[in-house]
This record gives sequence, C-alpha cells and structure tokens, in this order.
Amino acid sequence: MTEYSFNRFSAGVWMFGRFVDRYAADGYGPEVSITDAIRTAASVGGIEALDLNYPFWGPGEPSVADVRALLEETGMRTLAITPEIYTQTFRAGAFTNPDATVRKQAIDLIARATEVAYELGADYMKIWPGQDGFDYPLQADPRRLWELSVDAMQQIAGPHPDLPFAIEYKPKEPRTHMFFSDAASTLLAIEDIGLDNVGVLLDFGHSLYGGESPAAAAELCLARRRLIDVDLNDNFRGWDDDLAVGSVHLLETLEFLLTLKRAGWDKPWKLDQFPFREDPVEAARASIRMLRALLRLLDRLDLDELDAARERQDALGAQRLAYDLLLGEFAAAE
Ligand code: FE
Ligand code: FE
Repeated sequence: MTEYSFNRFSAGVWMFGRFVDRYAADGYGPEVSITDAIRTAASVGGIEALDLNYPFWGPGEPSVADVRALLEETGMRTLAITPEIYTQTFRAGAFTNPDATVRKQAIDLIARATEVAYELGADYMKIWPGQDGFDYPLQADPRRLWELSVDAMQQIAGPHPDLPFAIEYKPKEPRTHMFFSDAASTLLAIEDIGLDNVGVLLDFGHSLYGGESPAAAAELCLARRRLIDVDLNDNFRGWDDDLAVGSVHLLETLEFLLTLKRAGWDKPWKLDQFPFREDPVEAARASIRMLRALLRLLDRLDLDELDAARERQDALGAQRLAYDLLLGEFAAAE
C-alpha cells in the first residue's frame, strides 16, 4: 500500500528564486533567473515537476524553448504555470481591478500563460489573484468583487475545458482581505463559475493561518471533486511563514497527509516554501525527508483502530495511535 505518491515530489520554482520583502527591498540574495532556479531545484534530488511563474523572470529573459530544454536536460517536467497577476501593474487587483483596461491586461496575460502551459505540457494552470480583495472597510462592494472574479474565471477557463484551473486561496497578504480567502467561499464561487475544469489549490499554510483545519478543508474540496493540488509548508498560524513541512504543526500535517492518502491522492507532493535565511536546497530536502517519514509512518498506522477511536470521538485515543508511532519515548513512558 505504498503506491500513493510515496516518493514523488514537486515544487514551486519561486522557492529557489530571490526573495524580496518590504524590509530587504534589495532582496535576500542576488538576482536569480528562472533558469538558475530550475537548476537549483534539480540539485535537490527527488523533485520531478515544477510550478513555473510566467512571464519567466530574467536576467536574460528566458524563452519557452530555453525553459523546455532545461527541463528536459534536468529530467523534470512542468507541473503548473502561475501567471504573475499580482505584480506592480496589478497592485489594485487583477480580476477585480477598478480599471477595466487592467482587468483586460490580466485576462490577456493569463491567456498567454495558458498557451505556455500547453506548450510545456503542464498539468494545470494555477491562479493566485493575490491583489484581488480589499484593504479598508467600505472600500469595495463584496458583490461586485464576486461578480468580477466569477466572470474573469469563466473567461480564462471557459475556452480550455481540457486544462484544469486551480484557484489558490489565501486569507490575506498582500491585501488585508483577499477575495478567494478560504475553502468554503472558494468552492461557493466555483459553483457560480460553473465549469468542470475549475478547482482549488489548497495551500496547507494558507489554510492554517486562515483558521481552518487543513484536513477538514481538504475533505470539503475532495467531496466536491474540486481538489486539483496542494501546497505543503508550515507556519505559526499568524502569517504565511512558508516554513519547512512539519516544522511546527507536525500532527496537523500528518492528519492532512492521511486525508489525502485515504482519498487515493496520486500526485507528487508539492513544496511551497520561502527559505529567506536557509539554503533553499536544504530547506527542500528537510521537507522531503519529513514527508517521506510521515508517509512511511502512515503505512504503519492502524486505520481500523483510528476509525474506531474517531467513531467514539476519542481524542486522546486517536492521538495516542499517532504518538506511539511518532515518539518511541511516548510508548515507553507508560
Ligand atoms: Fe502556495
Ligand atoms: Fe503562500
């Protein structure tokens, strides 16, 4: 029973790029082109596919052919394309920008990115409308934001029924309130969008710091057959820290993996981290090591016993099953 992506991993290429924030506006390291980042990702070992930002960042403005050749050379493939609809041009929003010409620019950029997704054979398009939402009370009419977001998703995904479009939700940052903010409202919007090829990308960390149970949020998406992919990372629930997998919320991570395993998840486990001060290769390796360990542990978890404990809603009994495996000392401490 180890067929379920036991040893398969993917990553967002940005975790091997350069990080900038509002303090180190000069960046946390030298400029890195997307091709440099792809090479670094390949050096991790075990990453088979990448989620690539589009347009491809320079220096040198790498072309689609450059990226394709490099992926072939390094033995990786394109997992997804993420159009950058959250940069300076779109600072007041992409889908919900008050200026119709900017909204059109976002749709056009996504259309170009979608062509690239086909050219590179991506599994899906990842849509993260990071600047869509609002910052202040009274600033925006929620019904208008809903209309514009639903309409934009119909425009971009409607013409491509064979290509999945995954919406990544996030509660806040960069906006104080993002439009696609949680699992339930994103699923509700997807219902209004009304297209079979639109679903959710569930970022474990976004779910955590949005106050959800990531496992319960995953169940919600799975029940509606709308879970396209997941991003794995960790945080302290106050912010999108994008730390290494399992570094803070070990038990919730285990529960999340269990949920996906039981649903027959067969996709590579996707890393999404921002190792500002760590070596990104080591940060990715730490996550991969943790995922392998937790997935192996799940193989030994007695699911019948777990189900029996859950049927009784026996919190301590259910946790003990996991801790007995996680901590040798726990069982020995009787
Ligand atoms: Fe993410
Ligand atoms: Fe994030």
